[in-house]
Amino acid sequence: MKDYMTPTGIASFVYCPRLCYLNKVFPYSGKKTEQTILGLFEHDVLAKLSELSKIDFSNVNRLTEKELDLNKDRISRVLDFAMKISKENYPHFLDTLTNNLPSLRWRLSILDELRFKKLVSMVNAGMSIKDAVDVVLPWDIETWFSSSKYNIRGRADSIYKTMDNTLIVEDIKSHTKRLDAFIHRDEHKAQLTVYAVCAEEKYGLPTNQGQIFYSQDLSTNSFHISEDDKFNIIEIKKEAQRVTESEIPPKLEGDKAIKCKFCYKRELCFGIDRRTDDEIRDEASYESLEVEVKNSWR
Ligand code: SF4
Repeated sequence: MKDYMTPTGIASFVYCPRLCYLNKVFPYSGKKTEQTILGLFEHDVLAKLSELSKIDFSNVNRLTEKELDLNKDRISRVLDFAMKISKENYPHFLDTLTNNLPSLRWRLSILDELRFKKLVSMVNAGMSIKDAVDVVLPWDIETWFSSSKYNIRGRADSIYKTMDNTLIVEDIKSHTKRLDAFIHRDEHKAQLTVYAVCAEEKYGLPTNQGQIFYSQDLSTNSFHISEDDKFNIIEIKKEAQRVTESEIPPKLEGDKAIKCKFCYKRELCFGIDRRTDDEIRDEASYESLEVEVKNSWR
């Protein structure tokens, strides 16, 4: 597929055209910070836990308190496995991950309890366990999209199917500050809108809702995605494509410059005018964290 763009690439254009350009030209110039490793770790643990929960719940005949004990056991197994992998891949961040474990374990048990209660109330209302599981737990996890119609390739964290047979696309974020999440909200909606366009193409089901799940406080921010939003995002994609093929856009100015404080490529962006291309490339030649995690998780 030629000249494809990713949902995060298109969304970064909404945040800042220069960021979109930098992401295209230096895709792996993010630094391995404590926060990025923690985010990746939590993201993969959540995905794995959803996957295993779905398998377990789909195989029970009755929902009893015993299932909650199984949940705790499942959480321990997922965390043990994730830590084992992290020892090999992120030895320098092991202390950080270990210190975060009690908080993550606690959050996961709350999440499991909430899901369990929702399942029980749906089953008590007359639904089959299987149908309830399809609504409460992700219908599809880590879904890859490859749209030849729009030249977009990417992966959504989760897809939920509602009782009226429409889809909800979800992305997991690990922002620790509310302002940080708030300042990225247009970018988040853009990312979800791209997923919605791709999900409709892939599954042939209406997709008019997206949600950001914040792993730090288990909150969800939902967005309605209209037909106009979907049309506009394809126009934005075309514009973003044009920008990445021309000169680097200027830095943000005026009120918008506040975004630079929350930008993960700030260092690269602000240094780019002073260093040579070779220096920038040397600094930017990190291995893809996503690829590392993906390869070692499977
Ligand atoms: S630091 Fe500011 S100008 Fe530079 S890419 Fe980020 S948001 Fe854009």
